[in-house]
Amino acid sequence: DGSTTVTAGMVDALVKTHAPMCMKNLHHTLTATGHLKHYGRLQYNLFLKELGLPVEEALVFWRRSFKSMTDDKFNKEYRYNIRHGYGLEGRRMNYPAKSCARILTQDQPGPQDSHGCPFRHFSTTNLSSAMVQHYGLNQSEQSEILASVKQGHYHVACTRIFEITHQRQGVKKGTGLDGRGETVTHPNRYFESSWKLAQA
Ligand code: SF4
Repeated sequence: DGSTTVTAGMVDALVKTHAPMCMKNLHHTLTATGHLKHYGRLQYNLFLKELGLPVEEALVFWRRSFKSMTDDKFNKEYRYNIRHGYGLEGRRMNYPAKSCARILTQDQPGPQDSHGCPFRHFSTTNLSSAMVQHYGLNQSEQSEILASVKQGHYHVACTRIFEITHQRQGVKKGTGLDGRGETVTHPNRYFESSWKLAQA
C-alpha cells in the first residue's frame, strides 16, 4: 500500500515468498555468487525500490550482498549506480521499475547474464530446474508451463505459477493475480498481489 517500510534484512524472505521468477533468479544469483552484472543490478534495484526499499536500506542490502568486495570498491563503483536508480544522482530521473514488456524486449541477456525473463530467456532445462528450485512444481505443472512458453505466452506461464503456488497454500480461489483473471504484466504487480493475499 506504499506505506510499508522494507529493510535490507527483510528482502530475502519477501523475495522468496512473493517475487516472480525473474526476481527470484536475480536474488538467487546475487546470494550465491556475491555479484550481479550491470543489467541484473539495474532490473533488481528498480524492483526493490518500487517494492518499498528506501535508498539507505538498498545501500545496506547491496553492500552486504557483494560479500567479497571492499568498501572502497563498493563506494567508488556501485554506490552511485544504486543511488542513480533512486533518482538521486546525475539527471535525477525517477526511473520506474521495468515492466514485463520491457524485460522481455530490451537489453537481451547473454550467456553470463542473469537478467531478463526466465520464461523467455532460459533454456528448457534451466527453466525446469528453476521451476523446481524456486516453486517446487511437479512434473505435470512443469509441462503445462512449458507448453505456454513454447507458444510464446510468457505472461500466461508466469500467471499460472502465481495461481498454482497460491492455490497450493490454500489462500486463493479464482484465476489470475486478482482472482478475476488479471495476468502478469509487471514483476511488482505480481509481488504486490502475492503480498496482499498473505495479509488477507
Ligand atoms: Fe518476470 Fe514478467 Fe517474466 Fe514473470 S513474465 S518472470 S514477472 S518478466
